[in-house]
Amino acid sequence: MGKYNVGIIGATGMVGQRFALILENHPWFEVTALSASPRSKGKTYAEATRGRWLVDRPVPEKMKDMTLFDATEDIDAITKAVDFVFCAVDMPKEETKALEEAYAKKECPVMSNNSANRATQDVPMIIPEVNADHAAIVEFQRKRLGTNKGFIAVKSNCSIQSYVPALHPLMGYGIEDVLVCTYQAISGAGRTFDTWPEMEDNVIPFIGGEEEKSEREPLKIWGKIENNKIIPAKSPNITTQCIRVPVSNGHMAAVFVRLREKLSKGQITAIWSEYKGEAQRLNLPTAPKQFLNYFEEDNFPQTKLHRDLENGMAVSLGRLREDSQYDYKFVGLSHNTMRGAAGGAVLMAELFAAKGFFGG
Ligand code: NAP
Repeated sequence: MGKYNVGIIGATGMVGQRFALILENHPWFEVTALSASPRSKGKTYAEATRGRWLVDRPVPEKMKDMTLFDATEDIDAITKAVDFVFCAVDMPKEETKALEEAYAKKECPVMSNNSANRATQDVPMIIPEVNADHAAIVEFQRKRLGTNKGFIAVKSNCSIQSYVPALHPLMGYGIEDVLVCTYQAISGAGRTFDTWPEMEDNVIPFIGGEEEKSEREPLKIWGKIENNKIIPAKSPNITTQCIRVPVSNGHMAAVFVRLREKLSKGQITAIWSEYKGEAQRLNLPTAPKQFLNYFEEDNFPQTKLHRDLENGMAVSLGRLREDSQYDYKFVGLSHNTMRGAAGGAVLMAELFAAKGFFGG
């Protein structure tokens, strides 16, 4: 198979920079267009990101001299140069929605990190290990958009990737109620300690819109395709509190769960360690070999030690024990800009590529 040519929309942002690093040596995808706002148009990638390169490796050599397009004005040039795009922009919701639809209608599939289209009923929100089957909704979305190839698929919010993967293999045992407190890194807001010094030695008990997304999005992921729409699951009941903590990368979740069927601790950890999703079955290049990793140590997982497990694509779990009010409680950890953002979107794109959705 030849490589697919891909574009990054929002290439100068924090998530866009992660895309650039992940795609630098990707076996299936080659970056052939970079774009951002009109402020960056005409600059090389190196110039446009000078003084605001926030990720841990330098600007990829093969992208540093690429000239940035304006994501809106240059849509024709971009869509001619690529087979599909990754999109991570900081724009008002309606503008983001319009931008993503404009690309899809130009027959350019959009793998989106933005929240604008997450609630759109025929836009799949995919964690490849959990609900790869939702790709089937694309057929109906294409009918609505009047496209042959173009469509939009979204990655879920980063907060839910620390607990939905762990809960998913237990869904068949009747999960009734879930209570989650998330402890979220500052990169989730596109910030670092340099750009957000107030976060040093501080905890902020509010992340705008995050609790709503953390409660709503899992139900779409566990939903079913009916009448050309994804109908969200009606259960479990989920309640969350989302808290910003002074950590650069890595979202942790403290999870309490009530199950209809009583499982032993050993049964649950065995279910986790044996679980494989479509990403592992298809052996997708960015998929972790071991998706769910349970640690027996009382003080694991730790953000600094485990967030980068399998290039930040694995989910780390620990502290599973019985609870006096719920049945069990445990802790989950995932890398918010890898599994939770750019890495998750690349894995989703690999799934669509493997299933032939990009043509060619
Ligand atoms: P960011 O660092 O603020 O970057 C924003 C990007 O959007 C920049 O490339 C910027 O280009 C571009 N942009 C702004 N206005 C634009 C316009 N009018 N037209 C085209 N491009 C425009 O934001 P981020 O943290 O990367 O987040 C990007 C998106 O991903 C957001 O929707 C966010 O909610 C989502 N997300 C972020 C995370 C995370 O962990 N950070 C996780 C999941 C999802 P210029 O440089 O030219 O201004």
